[in-house]
Amino acid sequence: MTPLDNLPTPAKKSDPKTLAVEIIERLKHGTGKDPKAAKPHDWLQAVILVVRDRLVDHWIEWKDESRNEKRVYYLSLEFLIGRLMRDAITNLGLEGEINQALANIGVDLDILRELEPDAALGNGGLGRLAACFMESMASVGIPAYGYGIRYQHGLFRQEIRDGWQVELPEMWLSHGNPWEFERRESAYEIGFGGTVEPRGHDKTGVPTFRWKPSERMTAAAYDTPVVGWKGDHVNSLRLWSAQPIDPILLARFNAGDYVGALEESNRAETLTQVLYPQDSHIAGQELRLRQEFFFSSASLQDILRRHGQLFHTFDNLPEKVAIQLNDTHPAIAVAEMMRLLIDNEGYDFARAWELTNGTFAYTNHTLLPEALESWPVALIERLLPRHMQIIYQINAMVLKSARKDGLADEVISRISLIDEGGERRVRMGNLAFMGSHSVNGVSALHSDLMKETVFADLNAVFPGRINNKTNGITPRRWLAQCNPALLRLVQGVVGDVDLMAETEALTGITGMADDAGFQSSFEAIKRRNKEQLARVIQQRMGLRVDPGAIFDIQIKRIHEYKRQLLNLIETVALYDQIRSHPEKDWVPRVKIFAGKAAPSYHTAKLIIKLANDIARVVNNDPIVGDLLKVVFLPNYNVSLAEVLVPAADLSEQISTAGMEASGTGNMKFALNGAVTIGTLDGANVEIKDLVGDENIVIFGLTAQEVSDRRAIGRDPGEIIAASPELAQALRAIKDGAFSADDPSRYADLIGGIESHDWFMVSDDFDSYTAAQRRVDALWSDRATWNRMAILNTANVGWFSSDRTIRQYASDIWGVPTK
Ligand SMILES: *Cc1c(COP(=O)(O)O)cnc(C)c1O
Repeated sequence: MTPLDNLPTPAKKSDPKTLAVEIIERLKHGTGKDPKAAKPHDWLQAVILVVRDRLVDHWIEWKDESRNEKRVYYLSLEFLIGRLMRDAITNLGLEGEINQALANIGVDLDILRELEPDAALGNGGLGRLAACFMESMASVGIPAYGYGIRYQHGLFRQEIRDGWQVELPEMWLSHGNPWEFERRESAYEIGFGGTVEPRGHDKTGVPTFRWKPSERMTAAAYDTPVVGWKGDHVNSLRLWSAQPIDPILLARFNAGDYVGALEESNRAETLTQVLYPQDSHIAGQELRLRQEFFFSSASLQDILRRHGQLFHTFDNLPEKVAIQLNDTHPAIAVAEMMRLLIDNEGYDFARAWELTNGTFAYTNHTLLPEALESWPVALIERLLPRHMQIIYQINAMVLKSARKDGLADEVISRISLIDEGGERRVRMGNLAFMGSHSVNGVSALHSDLMKETVFADLNAVFPGRINNKTNGITPRRWLAQCNPALLRLVQGVVGDVDLMAETEALTGITGMADDAGFQSSFEAIKRRNKEQLARVIQQRMGLRVDPGAIFDIQIKRIHEYKRQLLNLIETVALYDQIRSHPEKDWVPRVKIFAGKAAPSYHTAKLIIKLANDIARVVNNDPIVGDLLKVVFLPNYNVSLAEVLVPAADLSEQISTAGMEASGTGNMKFALNGAVTIGTLDGANVEIKDLVGDENIVIFGLTAQEVSDRRAIGRDPGEIIAASPELAQALRAIKDGAFSADDPSRYADLIGGIESHDWFMVSDDFDSYTAAQRRVDALWSDRATWNRMAILNTANVGWFSSDRTIRQYASDIWGVPTK
């Protein structure tokens, strides 16, 4: 018993009056501002601090309560969080109270919301998944930590100038970050380079080693609380920032070398400056490998310190710790765990391997060859010499056993950790696979393809290790917060059930799909969301769009495999048709695009320019008028998605089959009552199974057909020649109909389609166009369309990330959920 045990800790009251008083109090004493002179940014800060206080109470309680439970550690180089304030307020159930409190002070919560910067510490789906998972782990009561990097600059801000993407630095920390807590006590030393020195022998005579790094820095922890639904559980997102051990090298400073004295400082701080802006592609820069090791090492040291303090042994590591690797970005952690257990804790190799393998699990996110990480052996040897030694040792052990089992040479060289074709490289996917007891894909189709392609050989050597965990999205952000009116409507039908906890209960509206009254309410909500989006388009682009038209939306990273180009070519074909037959009763459409291209991805940036060129021509053609509008909204991020998703009638999910691992944008749209036009790729397959064939518009080649065609080889020229509509659209783009200022701008882009067309745009074009005209017909019968939209919302509750997390918990982590 200490005096602290008797300390009364009254729960903070949260009625509007108390909140108003506290907000003013926080404004004065937390930010040092006079309420009479305070700016909206100051009020935002004050509101966040008041909400945060309430989180902290739950946070401390939950940490204490879950002390001895098994914990989950989610290692991810990306967390695409977005804004946090609305998330915290809804999950704490304080929406009404805070609104009222602010109304009493004369401050508008909606205005404050728009001021909060997006935490864009991720590129796209992979990073957003990590954010949804953090929220779901807290919601289902799993004691969990997210570990990542506190990038000074998250994903770049995109501006469109003269139709081209321009990248500007994202300054998300420029007003400070009231959500985070710096933990000065949790700092770890991270080494690079140097040598490996023999230290002696262990009890059994095996030689032991010690790594002597030549370069060292500190990883400093910053914690952000992540609150689950209803606020009972609050976990931590711990992000690491690199800092120099000696900020100023005094010897050099005293010698008059002021710049040299800061060298170490600059070198450390550079490490966590920026997020690499490539999605589904690995650039292979040394700094990236440094980031990967830096955050993996800091996280493992933190995990082992916490475990050691509680249990004083690591023999029970797999019983108390589950580490999930989000893609191969943290795969070096497998070697680092081995090093820490062997060199620091005195375990022998075999036992260390058992503990490591029992603790780690790995999620694969892509089959694209350009995204499969591998690092030159020479680079790892120079940066992480002890780890290279351990990787060789793991490889020897696994390959020896494979050889004993009689595996052929080709198979052995394919499962090897070392790729010997050309410059010798370490295959990080194979390292993550071997070091983990579970390897999962992110949709049923993707997991099946993993077994047939990248991991076919490893799957044969380690049967049963590959499993599927179809991705999900949090219904709190992607329904309750972004579309509160829709939630209220469905809640009124399903009655007294907590849809945010039991999202599958959305099926309760199935019986209303044909009800005229319900249909009109559903349609009215969609209409208001579209009007809201139309206002945003008007404000940002100066373009007026008709909310009565179909809002046809494709928003995601710009990538050839996602085929924005297919959509754009179809847009051009439609434009031609409308111009040729303006008298027909065309269904008015607004085609909306948004997404960022990696700054070094030339083709993707050209696709953005093409979208803007087409928009300029089409939007200014008087013959077309409101029948067709094309919009490219700049700077796609989580907050923009929250406005676009609820306003969509049609969700474009048109990747080349077999190439999109899962997609999660597809789930957000379906949940908000958009109909999907899509290929049988990723989780589209599961969306189709859930909503039924008649409530989704599927077109195009299957994954099997794509791979067959690639194997046999085909001539896109022949396909184009057989499709007059396609040929005409391609010709128009190629000949400069949309780029009069530079007629040959798109010659190579279209030339690529005519010559090889790896992503099968021409193969799928006719099927896609036919599917779009089916969409027109369905839309024209509004009762049919509304029924489809309603049945989408009704049937996709299964995609709640709570369901995904429960599956990880029971099948992979072995932790209970509430
Ligand atoms: C959901 C989401 C993604 C993933 O979208 P996909 O269509 O699955 O590629 C990417 N970026 C943001 C901001 C998102 O919210």
